[in-house]
Amino acid sequence: MLMPEIIANKRDGKELSEDELAFVVDGVCDGSIRAEQLGAWLMAVYNNSMSMKERITLTKLMRDSGEVIDWQGLAPMIVDKHSTGGVGDKVSLALAPALAACGLKVPMIAGRGLAHTGGTIDKLESIPGYTTSANERDIRRTIGFAGCCIYSQSTNIAPADSILYAIRDVTATVPSIPLITASIISKKSAEGLSCLVLDIKVGSAAFMQNLEEARALAKSMIEVGEGVGMEVRALLTRMETPIGSHIGNAHEVLEILDILDGSGSWDTISLIAMQGGHLLQMAGIVDTVEAGQMKILSTLSDGSAKHHWDLMCESQGVTNEVINQMRDHLETGEHRFTLHSNIDGWVEDINAMELAKVLSELGAGRSELGQEIDHSVGAVINAKVGTQVSEGDLVLAVEHPNDELSEEIMARLESCITVSASQISVPDRLIEVIK
Ligand code: URA
Repeated sequence: MLMPEIIANKRDGKELSEDELAFVVDGVCDGSIRAEQLGAWLMAVYNNSMSMKERITLTKLMRDSGEVIDWQGLAPMIVDKHSTGGVGDKVSLALAPALAACGLKVPMIAGRGLAHTGGTIDKLESIPGYTTSANERDIRRTIGFAGCCIYSQSTNIAPADSILYAIRDVTATVPSIPLITASIISKKSAEGLSCLVLDIKVGSAAFMQNLEEARALAKSMIEVGEGVGMEVRALLTRMETPIGSHIGNAHEVLEILDILDGSGSWDTISLIAMQGGHLLQMAGIVDTVEAGQMKILSTLSDGSAKHHWDLMCESQGVTNEVINQMRDHLETGEHRFTLHSNIDGWVEDINAMELAKVLSELGAGRSELGQEIDHSVGAVINAKVGTQVSEGDLVLAVEHPNDELSEEIMARLESCITVSASQISVPDRLIEVIK
């Protein structure tokens, strides 16, 4: 078999056979296919898409390119979630321990942030000592000790995906529904999951800006998930304004500590309860999603989710001293730039996309894979969208380590908030559930 023929078949819109896809995945892993050929093949997939049969085959091949965890008798209890990335989306950090407190097992493999959205791994790395790299033995140990773990993708989990993703990143082929599907579902399937909830973000601050595209991604992941033996459900949620009260890496961990202590922003808590409620129902722990939501909320208020968070941190290398005084160990920028309302009214908009881009430029995010970030840069929202404010009230503060911000950055931050003289209504985050 020759790679130029496989590229030509995809370029001409043909369905690739299992043998052709296996040739590609094997060649990705053993380095026998040149990067420019992979770039051309990825662009042909981007342009001509893939049938459901091709997507399922590619996903299985990518999953089987590395270790696949076999949980044996525990398998029905193994669940996870995946978010397509939102501004201030720190749900995973509290959801994994909350689900563990309900008896489920969550072997979460998470990613680092790219473009304007933060990554779960970057947030956890703001905790001194938190180790994110792992092999299968570490995952099993932490699951046994805490019921949940959050590690980064190791070279052993779906290695074909890591190599292809790096090439997609530099060949403008990331936003392809078949490639996103195979990338995410192969990794989740390698975790040995039986149930997966997807939070597909839709709106001006999401990768999917249009509802039809989000629905197509949801259907693709549900069908491919089923094809590889796991139940997948998708929640389509609005992503125009930041989630919760904090944005940034250390900042988002601070918000999670509030939530695990029984307080925190309802905006974030309701997403945690919603995703957890679906997973508890899918895994058969409760009969209805509503009962599952109540169970998740009680783990946040009775301290049991916090207990599993502490165990997870301990098993992933954090000392007891840091666990017990975590707020004191999270470094946030010492300089503050504050934004205030200039009228009496209601906060109408906080532009999540622009705010995230500015925070990223200040160091909170990265523009290319592998770039170092500054965990201390972030924002605290004092008045969320819909809140009534008086002239001069603080709406949000950006915390950063620089002595001063440029005129341009300050003007862009100022453009992020809009206050209306008339009352505004805030739509629900949830748009629809796709099963
Ligand atoms: N996240 C992934 O892991 N893969 C993709 O293709 C896109 C987002």
